[in-house]
Amino acid sequence: MSLQKPLIIDVHGHYTTAPKALEEWRNKQIAGIKDPTVMPKVADLKISDDELRESIELNQLTKMKERGSDLTIFSPRASFMAHHIGDVNISSTWASICNELCYRVSQLFPDHFIGAAMLPQSPGVDPKTCLAEIDRCVHDYGMVGINLNPDPSGGHWNSPPLTDRHWYPIYEKMVELDIPAMIHVSTSCNACFHTTGAHYINADTTAVMQLIQGDLFRDFPTLKFVIPHGGGAAPYHWGRYRGLAQELKKPLLVEHLLKNIFFDTCVYHQPGIDLLTKVIPVDNILFASEMIGAVRGIDPETGHYYDDTKRYVLATPHLSQEQRYKVFEANARRVYSRLDVALNKKGL
Ligand SMILES: [Zn+2]
Repeated sequence: MSLQKPLIIDVHGHYTTAPKALEEWRNKQIAGIKDPTVMPKVADLKISDDELRESIELNQLTKMKERGSDLTIFSPRASFMAHHIGDVNISSTWASICNELCYRVSQLFPDHFIGAAMLPQSPGVDPKTCLAEIDRCVHDYGMVGINLNPDPSGGHWNSPPLTDRHWYPIYEKMVELDIPAMIHVSTSCNACFHTTGAHYINADTTAVMQLIQGDLFRDFPTLKFVIPHGGGAAPYHWGRYRGLAQELKKPLLVEHLLKNIFFDTCVYHQPGIDLLTKVIPVDNILFASEMIGAVRGIDPETGHYYDDTKRYVLATPHLSQEQRYKVFEANARRVYSRLDVALNKKGL
C-alpha cells in the first residue's frame, strides 16, 4: 500500500492443515490403485465450509494476525502432491480436489488468501496434460500462480531438465496467462533424501543450475520462476554459480537469470536472511514464510518461531525502508501480476 505500511504478502503458503477427511479420501484413492473396487468417488469427499473455516482460523490466520502478515498465496500441501503415486488420472483427480479446496479457502477469506495451483503431473507424462487444470484454476478460481514440480518421480530425477522442450507447453501457457511458477518438488520417495530437509533444498539448487546451463529465458523472456526456500544453496554459493556461468560462456547471472527468477525468504534464521539480502538484488527477493510448514518449532536461541520470517526481514541491516517495501509487497505484485490486478480491484 505504501512505503510506511506495506501490505505484507506471503507468496508461499500451503494448505497443510486441511481437515482429516482429505487425507482419508487420498488414502482410499491410493488403495483404489491396487483394488479398483475401493476407489472413492470425488463426491465421497465432504468437507463443509465451517470445517474449512475452522482449519484456517485456528492455524494460518491466527499466526498471520500474530505476526502481522496480510495476504498469503495459498496452494495445496506440497508434500501431499505426490505426483509419483498412480497414473495421470489419479493425479488429475487429486489435483482438482486440492485446488478446489484452496479456492474455497480463498472465497471464505478473500482478504487473506488467494490461490496458486498444484498441477496434475505424473512421471513420464507429457506436461500438456496439465494445461486444462491451469486454465481452470486461473479462469474459474482466480489463481495467480502455479507450483511446478521439476521431479514428479519424487526423488529419482528422471524427467528432463527444466530447460528442455519437454516443459515448453507449460511455459507457453504461463506466458499466455502471465503467471509465475514456483519450482516446488513434493514428497521424496527416495530414502536418501529427506523431503523438506534435503529433497526440497536440492531441487531449488538443481533448478538454478539447470537454468544456468540452458538458455530458457532467451526463448521465454517474460517467463518467471520463484525458487523457494531462499533459493536452496544458490545464494550461499552465488560465487560458484557466477563462476560456473562464466565457464559455460553464459552472460552474467544478472542478465542470464535475474530478470526471470526470484527467491523467497523461507530461510529460518537471521544470518540466512542477512546473506540472502546481501547477495541477491532486492528486486529478486519475495517475502514468504511457508507457514505452517516444514519447521514448526520455536528457536531456543531467539524464543521465536523459526518460520516467523518477517522478523528477519525487518531486522536485516541490508534493507532500507524502500527495499523492505519491495520485499513485502511491490515485488510480489510485479511477479504475480494477476495478484496485482486482484488487489487493484479492491482498491489496495
Ligand atoms: Zn512449499
